[in-house]
Amino acid sequence: MRQIMGWLAAVTLLGARVALAVAPAGAAEQVFFNGAIYTQDPTQPWAEGFAIVGGTYVAVGSNEAMHALIGPHTRVEDLRGAMVMSGLIDDHVHAVDGALGELFDCLFAADATPAQLAKILRACVARSPSGAWISGGYWASDFFEHHPDLVPRRWLDEISAERPIILRDDTGHNVWVNSAALRRAGISADAADPTGGRFVREAGTRQPNGLALEAAAEKIQAAVTVPTAAQYRRAVAHVQSLAHRFGMIGLKEADAATETIRAYQAADNHGALHLYVAACISTLAMQDKPETVLDVDRIDRIRAQYHSRLVATDFVKIYLDGVPTAARTAAMLEPYLPDADGRRVSGDLHVNPDVLARDVVELDRRGYTIKMHAAGDRAIRVGLDAIAAARQANPDGRLRHELAHAGYIAPVDLPRFAQLNAVAEFSPVIWYPSPIIDAVIEVLGERAKSYWPMRSLLASHAPLAAGSDWPSVVPSMDPWGGIEAMVTRSDPYHASSRTLWPEESIGLADALRIYTLGNAAALRREAQTGSIVSGKSADFIVLDRNLFKIPANQIAKVKVQRTYFEGRQVYQRAPD
Ligand SMILES: [Zn+2]
Repeated sequence: MRQIMGWLAAVTLLGARVALAVAPAGAAEQVFFNGAIYTQDPTQPWAEGFAIVGGTYVAVGSNEAMHALIGPHTRVEDLRGAMVMSGLIDDHVHAVDGALGELFDCLFAADATPAQLAKILRACVARSPSGAWISGGYWASDFFEHHPDLVPRRWLDEISAERPIILRDDTGHNVWVNSAALRRAGISADAADPTGGRFVREAGTRQPNGLALEAAAEKIQAAVTVPTAAQYRRAVAHVQSLAHRFGMIGLKEADAATETIRAYQAADNHGALHLYVAACISTLAMQDKPETVLDVDRIDRIRAQYHSRLVATDFVKIYLDGVPTAARTAAMLEPYLPDADGRRVSGDLHVNPDVLARDVVELDRRGYTIKMHAAGDRAIRVGLDAIAAARQANPDGRLRHELAHAGYIAPVDLPRFAQLNAVAEFSPVIWYPSPIIDAVIEVLGERAKSYWPMRSLLASHAPLAAGSDWPSVVPSMDPWGGIEAMVTRSDPYHASSRTLWPEESIGLADALRIYTLGNAAALRREAQTGSIVSGKSADFIVLDRNLFKIPANQIAKVKVQRTYFEGRQVYQRAPD
């Protein structure tokens, strides 16, 4: 009440002058006041309110200054002291795939026992139409290490001998299938391993045992019936409602099939999209061998066909390697610990370094931001080399290419991120809560403990970005656990008290900046969103607590009360 009285006084004194100075055309359409506004504007880090016209902030400042912009038709809102900040962005998510999975797949927890898993799968088989694929996930990367007697294909055949079953692992790179799935995909004992992948065989035979890694997994995946356009439409709507609930106003589809991009574009064209989407055009189906040069003209056609106001298609995904789990497919400078047969492999590159450099130079020249999957330190080095080639060939190039999952970085390569203006992109929610880190430690040993050097990268002025990678590895695209984990380097859901390389933790302000301005830049929208300043789009969230006034290990518990996109409320939390 005192606040309101103060305001009334301020209006009388300042009203006319401020209104004339700031809003000559009249009052604001909306005014929010009495908040703890975390602006991320260095000239005014905190404010009490802001005013909006046409979905854009026109003023940010004190209650008094905002009050001067209230006219007879202004919608005025008292924030009652709530913390407000710019909406978050996820720079690495497979959101439509995750939504299709949530809506239509057979899902189970990564720590499900074989007995629990069998029960879930039998229920899925019973309720899906006959003949249809049973598609699901996500089994833990070290599941078969813990169940060495379980023969993958035969175990699934017991669930169903007729229905094809395909289950993805928690990295999304490898699959587990039954005999019916192998038959549908035309994979027999004679099938050769594709480049960049392998059908694991039963001991002493050529008979596939039901596990298919990397490119071999893709071969089986290609036989799975694709979702219908109607299913894609539902998936986009589901993605958007999840995003808004978590306080997100934008995301980058890290490896988008054309069906995915088309579904976002259709939603945008119908006025139903309230989310910035950047779609990394998938090159998985275009690069069958490490020597294959990308057909950039074909990528250009996809870019031209599917972009819309909110759907940006100037992005491309290239996979340089696999994953540093039991599959041992991330390309490392030093070999993994010996596998069950005593072999010491180092993982393979999916693309020849010279071909990659050529592709990156050409994509950079044509204006694409490239996200390179680079899980191992060798893949990171090769990716940085390719960006260096682009900087040399296109000296005016300003695009910030990304190395995704930049986990293991050789110390000599660390300063190159800042030098090349290359983005190190992280999936911070997986430091410890998920079995995947344990799977990584099992194959890398001590090296696994120097994972994600965020503080060192920040200190070197490297640009950073972050994402969930959902539905790979993590159970949802909730960004708050990732923000907490950047600060604490431990499990944001408190199932484990361990930490991972805590010396590399960063402060809350830095973590929030990565999820807002950092990721906005990664979407090439930093001039438009990511902070609360005049001239930017009013994309903001109202929180139930002030993140700066709670212990760091409570950050993941924050609840988003409301989400606004372009000045319009797109989410309101239901009362408890
Ligand atoms: Zn991913």
